[in-house]
Amino acid sequence: MVAEPIPLVNLGRLSALASADMPTSGPLIDSFGRLLEDLRVSLTDRCNFRCLYCMPEEGLPWLPAANVMTFDEITRIVGLLVRLGIREVRLTGGEPTLRPRLPALIAQLGKLPALESLSLTTNGYLLKQLAGPLADAGLTRINVSLDTLVTEKFEKITRRDALHKVLEGLEEVERHPSIWPIKVNAVAMRDFTEEEIISFAEFARRKPYIVRFIEFMPLDADGNWNAEQVLTGEEIRRVIHDWKPLVRVEGQNPSSTSRDYVFQDGIGRVGFINPVSEPFCSACNRIRLTADGGLRTCLFSLEDTSLLAPIRAGATDEDLEQVIRAAVWRKELKHHINEGAFFVRPNRSMSQIGG
Ligand code: SAM
Ligand code: SF4
Repeated sequence: MVAEPIPLVNLGRLSALASADMPTSGPLIDSFGRLLEDLRVSLTDRCNFRCLYCMPEEGLPWLPAANVMTFDEITRIVGLLVRLGIREVRLTGGEPTLRPRLPALIAQLGKLPALESLSLTTNGYLLKQLAGPLADAGLTRINVSLDTLVTEKFEKITRRDALHKVLEGLEEVERHPSIWPIKVNAVAMRDFTEEEIISFAEFARRKPYIVRFIEFMPLDADGNWNAEQVLTGEEIRRVIHDWKPLVRVEGQNPSSTSRDYVFQDGIGRVGFINPVSEPFCSACNRIRLTADGGLRTCLFSLEDTSLLAPIRAGATDEDLEQVIRAAVWRKELKHHINEGAFFVRPNRSMSQIGG
């Protein structure tokens, strides 16, 4: 079911390359030669849902407000990273729409020269009222998480009765064509998602959304993940293809997490994000910033490098750049999900990292 680990082809380079080889100028690059161009910024660790693959039903203390980056701190860090070659920024969380004055932050970040894409990942609960202000502020792309189209199942997975709110939110986004594409992301879980594969495929054909299935990763706060619960993207793709033939989209960026397909008859598009069964670490161009300003070079990093602490201690941009370069240089080769005892879970769960 779950694929073999990818080979450690580049491992030797870690020791072979002394940190003296680390560039002190030019684009952000890691010791394996990967260019870093994509940044996920968590705006808050708080959430109004409690998805069972992400948060515990209760508990999980929030970060103290004073430890969370202000808009000016976010803009300073993102601005510096854009100057160092980051091209795409996605705002996430926790639930980023809980951050008061979110449109003001979008407008602030939208002014950064050289930023090619600014997007938002949200659970959609507040989109009905926020889609207009977000579009006016300059948001151009959105990802909405939606794991089921059935009311009772939605309540079971998010522990909130809110499917209607998310669907209304999506409809509202459709009224603002400057936000495009609209991607709907469903975490696929065995014994949960199978019965809805065709419903989601029909949804992708009926609505102007790209529906993407994400494999369940061991980042749930409850620590209940096991490999048997992973419904692979390939299993889902086959079911859809047998129902209506799919054609692979040509020319996708190799660093793209999603393998996208269109239907042969030209109506609708679906995608598969398969980090467990088909890891894409060798082409990974992503780094992450937690809500408290920790730079993470992998979803599965065991530690972060604080950028907020040096900022608050008066660091210059030049100081920060060297901290960033050193952290990025040490970016992990790959995750170890498929390696049994070698896999060590990070001590932060998905909502605390910023997925
Ligand atoms: N609250 C927002 C949302 O749900 O879209 C943004 C943050 S959420 C952590 C970002 C994405 O991570 C969502 O698409 C969510 O479904 C996904 N996610 C959370 N936990 C996951 C897990 N254990 N495995 C795979 N995806 C997960
Ligand atoms: Fe909240 Fe998103 Fe995590 Fe669900 S996946 S609990 S909406 S942060």
